[in-house]
Amino acid sequence: MRMCPRCKVELSKKRYKGVLVDECENCHGIFFDHGELEKVRDAADENLRWLDFVLFNVSDLQKVQADQGDCPKCGFAMDSLQYAGSSVILSKCSNCQGVWLDKGEFQKIIAYLEGLVAAMPASELGDAAKRQLVDVFVGPKRESEEIKDLLAVTRLLEERWIVEHPTIEKIMETYYELTPFK
Ligand SMILES: [Zn+2]
Ligand SMILES: [Zn+2]
Repeated sequence: MRMCPRCKVELSKKRYKGVLVDECENCHGIFFDHGELEKVRDAADENLRWLDFVLFNVSDLQKVQADQGDCPKCGFAMDSLQYAGSSVILSKCSNCQGVWLDKGEFQKIIAYLEGLVAAMPASELGDAAKRQLVDVFVGPKRESEEIKDLLAVTRLLEERWIVEHPTIEKIMETYYELTPFK
């Protein structure tokens, strides 16, 4: 039986963005088993799926205090960690890698990631696209998943490139006018 680390009541199975997670009906916190958070993130914003979720990059997480709660899955005391440069403080189990988010914290993480992507110049997105291209062949995820990542980052790169280089659209139009391959 999985218990809420905050209110000590039993958690209920809930479908959150298509992924089965454990939610507390009292405080509306959510427990994500290892890997579930990435699935939910991908469902929440297709444009973010290629960001190698900084959440599980331990060096980006700063331990801020001892947590008050025990992991709903395995009972270990969880750590309170600050999520990268955001104001979100989440709880993570160092044993099973499960993550507890209090109500509204997932939305804050998504907003933070979207802000990061929005501020990225085309050059940085270009580097990310190259890395993603390599990942299609050697990445940790299934090939079809890596291709989706690549498409997501390429789409963003195109948008950003046109914003930063408004003349490129004109050049492309001229090119299409001239090309014999129509
Ligand atoms: Zn609760
Ligand atoms: Zn655990």
